[in-house]
Amino acid sequence: MSLEGLYREVILDHSSHPRNKGALDSADVVREGANPLCGDEIRVSIRVRDRIVEDVRFEGKGCSISQASASMMTERVKGKSVEEARQAIAEFKGMMHGQEAPPDEMGDLEALQGVRKFPVRVKCATLSWITLELALEDLSKT
Ligand code: ZN
Repeated sequence: MSLEGLYREVILDHSSHPRNKGALDSADVVREGANPLCGDEIRVSIRVRDRIVEDVRFEGKGCSISQASASMMTERVKGKSVEEARQAIAEFKGMMHGQEAPPDEMGDLEALQGVRKFPVRVKCATLSWITLELALEDLSKT
């Protein structure tokens, strides 16, 4: 299978079997985001204890890129510290905006690199991450 074919498989897998999808009971922060250009809508809920992202869930609808990216985002940051989550957001946004060679293994996220060729779709991929970033900012204000 070609690399692009493999990437398509990964995105399809996450969009048709999303991880951590649903509402989160006892969330500390809930944030909504939208990408009107494509019609993507995302709601990210997080629960943080002792500076650890204990649980993170998303709800939403939209294109497969936005939903797959949200699913990957939850896998990437769940169980990580808030600082690690912020780092992961920065790395992902960096990758999507053309920075080469992320500092560590991006795993499934590498499948989204192909989206960089389509600037409109970059917003689909980064929507859930930006929404998470805003949720973490809300958290630091409380
Ligand atoms: Zn989209």
